[in-house]
Amino acid sequence: MATNIVTNWFGNIVSHPSVIVDANSVDDIVAVMKDPVKYPSPVRAVGSNHSTAACGVADGGTLIRMKMNQILNIGATSLTVQAGALHLDMAKALEAQNLQFYVNTEIGSLSAGSASCAGTKDASFPGEYGQVGSYVTGVKMILPSGDQLEVTEDAQPDLMQQVRSSYGLFGIIHEVTYKIRPLTPMHVHHTTYSLEDFIAALPDLKALGYSIMYYMFPFENKIAVEFRKYNPGATGDPNHAAWALRNHIWGTSGPKFGHDTEQNVSIPSIRYSIIDAFNAAWRLQLEYIVTSDYTIPPDQIIQYPAVSDDSRYTFSLFAFAEDEFPAALTAFYKFCNDYYTQKGYRSNLLYVGYRIAQDQKALLSYSYDGTVMTIDPVSTANRGWDDFLVAYNQFCVSLNGKPLLNQTPGLTAAILQGAYGDKLKTLAATRKQYDPQDRLLNDYFRQLLS
Ligand SMILES: Cc1cc2nc3c(=O)[nH]c(=O)nc-3n(C[C@H](O)[C@H](O)[C@H](O)COP(=O)(O)OP(=O)(O)OC[C@H]3O[C@@H](n4cnc5c(N)ncnc54)[C@H](O)[C@@H]3O)c2cc1C
Repeated sequence: MATNIVTNWFGNIVSHPSVIVDANSVDDIVAVMKDPVKYPSPVRAVGSNHSTAACGVADGGTLIRMKMNQILNIGATSLTVQAGALHLDMAKALEAQNLQFYVNTEIGSLSAGSASCAGTKDASFPGEYGQVGSYVTGVKMILPSGDQLEVTEDAQPDLMQQVRSSYGLFGIIHEVTYKIRPLTPMHVHHTTYSLEDFIAALPDLKALGYSIMYYMFPFENKIAVEFRKYNPGATGDPNHAAWALRNHIWGTSGPKFGHDTEQNVSIPSIRYSIIDAFNAAWRLQLEYIVTSDYTIPPDQIIQYPAVSDDSRYTFSLFAFAEDEFPAALTAFYKFCNDYYTQKGYRSNLLYVGYRIAQDQKALLSYSYDGTVMTIDPVSTANRGWDDFLVAYNQFCVSLNGKPLLNQTPGLTAAILQGAYGDKLKTLAATRKQYDPQDRLLNDYFRQLLS
């Protein structure tokens, strides 16, 4: 009988594993795989357990917490680490050698194991991908049989493509190799638009050659756009304060303000006036302080606390083909306002989104068919959030949005089938080949992949 309680980082997804194993060595993982009596199924591994969906839940089974976090090798163009290594720690080690990741997500807690087999997002630089795993060139994993399997981009590109969407369903990954690049100065600036002006300007903005990320304010009809590009000719010293401010407001003080305002101000109209005023100040800070010709990419990565506190937030995500995005965004702003009018619910934080280049490196890449732009509602999970997400999922499905299995709560098999179709059959066939006894299959994936 299950006795342990483990939650994801935010605290809203609960797992009841019968056994918890801290994997400090490959032998620890092999021991789990080889003894289904002592270590019951499903066997799931987690890194930092930040996922906003139940992909890491091991009800009645064995939860492996990846503690193996050593950096094994840093070369001029590659980094090899143990799967429990965290994005921020790796980025700092690379920076010390004038190197960097291609994709520097704001989440510093992203583990290498998760990056190599689960979905991620960040705004793509021109000519680059926006998914971390697309720069993972090889993994070593322990299969349910207890044997080791090494997969590399060079030797098995098709299998590597599936590994990047395998969510730990083929095996438990213990070693990851990334392609990396020289540390390069980066320009950043922000501009705020009305929704209509942004949509009118979007074709021109795309042609400018910046990465495009955006903070959405549906209740003020505004959108603040983050523009970044590499600026190798930058001189002087890097500006560290710009990203430090962004990180603090986005990762700590913003969500804490939303949380506290929610708790302390009971009248919605007053509560949301206060939150909208905070958001207006946030846009000014983005425009006037988070701007520089010379920042460095690792400074964007946020150190979230290991155990979440009142500054925690959660979110969802759907991606839209970029030519369908202007209509989707316009409909989304209306959807949020209509929902608030009809149901009395709105989020107490802002929303975000990313422009992510076409990318076929992962089988279940949400930008497999072309460049996408995402709509990610964010919240402290104030009352009504869960119902809102059900409506948001329906809204996104009706506009051909594509979800992520680790970042879109409330998925159903039908939603997944509509988004990824026959690719799911390919994934299921390979999964069955490596895991014929369903040792790694939890209820979440059993229901979604059935
Ligand atoms: C505050 C916050 C901010 C976030 N910001 C971003 C962001 O900027 N960009 C972004 O892309 N995402 C972001 N996320 C979403 C998401 O949590 C991450 O993309 C990522 O999944 C987190 O890594 P993790 O190590 O916590 O993964 P986990 O949640 O631990 O695991 C994710 C999946 O991978 C599997 N897995 C993990 N390790 C292994 C392994 N060693 N072997 C086999 N399978 C494994 C798990 O079983 C699970 O299915 C954010 C989440 C939060 C809560």
